[in-house]
Amino acid sequence: MYKDTFRHKGKRQQLVDVIIQKGIQDRKVLQAIGKIPRHLFMDSSFEDHAYQDKAFPIAADQTISQPYTVAFQSELLEITEGENVLEIGTGSGYQTAVLCELGARVFSIERQRELYKKTKAFLSKIGYRPKHLSFGDGYKGLPAYAPFDKIIVTAGAPYVPKDLLGQLKVGGRLVIPVGEDVQIMTLFVRKSPTEFDKTEFGEFRFVPLLEDKN
Ligand code: SAH
Repeated sequence: MYKDTFRHKGKRQQLVDVIIQKGIQDRKVLQAIGKIPRHLFMDSSFEDHAYQDKAFPIAADQTISQPYTVAFQSELLEITEGENVLEIGTGSGYQTAVLCELGARVFSIERQRELYKKTKAFLSKIGYRPKHLSFGDGYKGLPAYAPFDKIIVTAGAPYVPKDLLGQLKVGGRLVIPVGEDVQIMTLFVRKSPTEFDKTEFGEFRFVPLLEDKN
């Protein structure tokens, strides 16, 4: 049922080349993009577009992020093997799979029940084993499993949720697109229990991180 052909592999390598040209350098991130069958994370009607560097619709009015964006955020996280990583917005599970390939112990939260269920079943079918997939509100993080080495938000946040900063280890990194219509990719590094370094990168566009709908 899940086919990954030479044609898919060839297109995937071209996608990796495009992402390299756009400036991604992290070898492990590039390997992950080159390995993961993105076409399986999308509706079969979009399959032909799976290896273009574009976001596409998935279920429940949501999108699978653009590969360059996934690579950019993953590179900023600087993941090493065995780290605990929290993802907000499981969506299709594609970013989750990238985090798994990078050797992270992945915890991910999705607020759309339909997507949560579908993606949970799908990831396990294709052999990805995140530590914990959760149905709930990402603004609150996952206090039961905190603190995390790294946190990644994959929806546009109107502001930086306090709970997420609070669930970061000292030395940990939070990568979050902040803004309403357009988002500024923002990196927070926790320097001490009370201090964070903040660095801003370019503009990106995400579906919104939604509040209070559970
Ligand atoms: N990482 C995903 C990106 C999906 S788009 C991928 O690679 O496919 C963003 C996702 O965030 C959507 O699935 C949306 O339902 C989810 N989302 C929006 N607000 C949320 C919230 N408050 N908590 C958790 N997930 C949320």
